[in-house]
Amino acid sequence: MDSIPYSRQEITEADIAAVSAVLRSELVTQGPVVQRFEQAFAQRHAVAHAVAVSNATSALHLACLALGVGPGSRVWTSPISFVASANCALYCGATVDFVDIDPLTRNLSVDRLRDKLEDAEPRGELPDVVIPVDFAGLPCDLRELRALADRYGFKLLEDASHATGASYLGAPVASAWADATVFSFHAVKILTCAEGGMVATNDAALAQRVRSLRSHGITRDEAEFEFASPGAWYYEQQTLGVNARITELQAALVLSQLGRLDDMQARREALAERYDTLLAKLPLLLPPRRDDRRSAWHLYAVEIDAARTPVRREAAFAALREAGIGVNVHYIPIHTQPYYQRLGFARGDFPAAERYYARTLSLPLFPALTHEQQDRVVSVLGSVLA
Ligand SMILES: *Cc1c(COP(=O)(O)O)cnc(C)c1O
Repeated sequence: MDSIPYSRQEITEADIAAVSAVLRSELVTQGPVVQRFEQAFAQRHAVAHAVAVSNATSALHLACLALGVGPGSRVWTSPISFVASANCALYCGATVDFVDIDPLTRNLSVDRLRDKLEDAEPRGELPDVVIPVDFAGLPCDLRELRALADRYGFKLLEDASHATGASYLGAPVASAWADATVFSFHAVKILTCAEGGMVATNDAALAQRVRSLRSHGITRDEAEFEFASPGAWYYEQQTLGVNARITELQAALVLSQLGRLDDMQARREALAERYDTLLAKLPLLLPPRRDDRRSAWHLYAVEIDAARTPVRREAAFAALREAGIGVNVHYIPIHTQPYYQRLGFARGDFPAAERYYARTLSLPLFPALTHEQQDRVVSVLGSVLA
């Protein structure tokens, strides 16, 4: 029997034709397609500015720099995320801390954040930036986070790497609430161009800083020059940026996919609902649902309910993998990684995250997953847990 991956990109003939057209054109990088993709993405997410970059790790790094993160800054994020959500602050010379998750939504807990802010304020240790993560595609509690950001004066950088196309209170993520929102177009994500990322914001000056940082801090716009231009070859490096550019090939691929976003999201949603029904009787905690937000369904992550079964996650994981089913675990809490332990974090620091990690399993979910494949996942999982 064929093996079933936990995620798989969908590349259509139309996607391939869009990339081929770029290959036959004059510019393979720094051309017009990147701009077209940025405009279409911004429109789809109802946000004023979108700046495409080489990957979401760079997007987080440059967004932090553009938000003023540097040595002495404090950045807080969720321990249940990919390491990039925390590493971005360290690249800027800032210190990182974590806020434990809400065990129901698996996103950064607003209550734990409020406690931590109240504790930090009298000590003068409030964060400069908080990076909530839309885990599995479910938008975090953005309205409450915005209120805390306004009250305590920190910037909100939303890591929506899982949440392209998701919405909160009827509006797409990135359209309101956060100061900047980051998306990923890595191969396993909602839309993909193999590697790619985006910073979206309504702040024109912030977008301009990210644009400059993605290409060495260089400008060729005469209106921005600090010195007089001696001729048409002239450009100026005004800040220290990096090369985080995305290519025309990648922009063409992900722009083509953006046209199918609603269709792909509907298929993910239907498969998630089907899992909900098929798994209802198993000793599992199913992914959370909230009436006020629509998930992008990047992941379908279940928790094995220790109160109802003695079977451990490790055993279930091994049995599913043995049966050719590509389950995965999202995530190993960042603070438990050796690198972060050496920075002073310890096991036990964020108990809700650690409890979640010990029990979770991500089941295969991608737009082309068939009902037959899904039935096989359910059947193997059912017999493991029986
Ligand atoms: C994938 C991911 C990233 C990093 O994205 P890349 O495009 O691979 O750099 C960051 N944060 C989260 C939550 C992710 O899932």
